[in-house]
Amino acid sequence: MTARDAIALKPCPFCGGKAKLCTGRAAEDAEFAQVICTDCRVQIDYFEDAYAPTADAVAAWNRRAAASPHMPADGWVLVPEGGPVELDDCPEGLFLFGGTLAVMTEYATMSKTVPPMRQRDAYIVESGEYFWGGTSRTVDRAKLMVQPLASRPKGGA
Ligand SMILES: [Zn+2]
Repeated sequence: MTARDAIALKPCPFCGGKAKLCTGRAAEDAEFAQVICTDCRVQIDYFEDAYAPTADAVAAWNRRAAASPHMPADGWVLVPEGGPVELDDCPEGLFLFGGTLAVMTEYATMSKTVPPMRQRDAYIVESGEYFWGGTSRTVDRAKLMVQPLASRPKGGA
């Protein structure tokens, strides 16, 4: 077993595939290290240094962003919470509109209409785009029927 085998690489964050560390000589006085997914081929930046850039490459690969507070953790599922409501009455948190998962925030902006209307800010989870639900006017958007969601332990009551 070599030192390289002993380095614990986390699985690929995208496909769960096995990660592989590639090292070698980059130039006469430099080495390179890079981690690549053996399944989907996603890779981190190429680390090049005069002395053993392996630790930097491994640390970069193993780094994971904290889970979003809006998304359920492992072992949790999303379930409907109460009946469908108009967007303006939707509690803060996740909701479904058609097949779109979105999140209602605690914030609002004033519409550019005359007179201005308070427009609650909601975003599509997947894309981060502002949620309009196919409407283009604040007054129509506020009346969209959406399904609030809650997270519950998997298999729980
Ligand atoms: Zn992968």
